[in-house]
Amino acid sequence: MNEVTRLGDVSRIKMGREYQGRVLYWTAAYVVDGLLIDTGCPHTAEELAGFLEGRHLDLAVNTHHHEDHVGANHHLQQQFHIPIMASRESAPLIAQSPNLHPYQELVWGHPVPTVVDVLPNEVETENYRFNVIETPGHCPGHVSFVEMTRGWCFTGDLFISREPKAMRPEEDLYEIARSMKKLVDLQTERLILFTGLGNVVEDGREALRSCIDYIHDLSERARTLERQGLSTGAIVNQLFGRESVLAGLTDGHISSENVVRALLRSQS
Ligand SMILES: [Zn+2]
Repeated sequence: MNEVTRLGDVSRIKMGREYQGRVLYWTAAYVVDGLLIDTGCPHTAEELAGFLEGRHLDLAVNTHHHEDHVGANHHLQQQFHIPIMASRESAPLIAQSPNLHPYQELVWGHPVPTVVDVLPNEVETENYRFNVIETPGHCPGHVSFVEMTRGWCFTGDLFISREPKAMRPEEDLYEIARSMKKLVDLQTERLILFTGLGNVVEDGREALRSCIDYIHDLSERARTLERQGLSTGAIVNQLFGRESVLAGLTDGHISSENVVRALLRSQS
């Protein structure tokens, strides 16, 4: 299902597969001035294409290669013949068929591999200019799109919440914190975050700062507990009370244990 909200010149399209009357997991794409940022998941590709039919659309970009951000690439290329762009690191990953866990196939679906162009440093539309900023950590090749005069910041999956408690094994929390700091330090009057989950965070700087502080604080606590001889599982219980319910739903792919492991890795 699709839920479209107009936020000034930005249209937010929230999408998700419905299962027994409930949306399993929201994902979002944004359209501004003919630019589509992210394309949702494969299960909602046709709905997204239906919404875009007859609208002004020149270009689509992907913040990163995950299946819930590139899902309609193939449909859009077939139906609208528009260029699609992603970062130099993401493009080869988008061109491959990914190995997905069963829960990913169920919730989002399997994307058709697509050949996309490599993003330049800036993307211009008729009225706006978007800086392409490298923001890795959630995965390699992740980028954010920032319109400096408006302070719009499309962050893909860089910022999920102020206090993330579960994540994938390949995520690097310290790199996430460094990427967030890069956005905090941008010379803009304000910073409004438009996230991959469809949240719009008006005071983006405050939210990013608060997440960075949380990561550093959690890191100190995890390292102290490790020095005291606690196991990873015991550190999870100390920091979060218990393992995240997501761990059970995703066969351990998204878990609090992954957060603790990432905190205990060296800060490269
Ligand atoms: Zn992602």
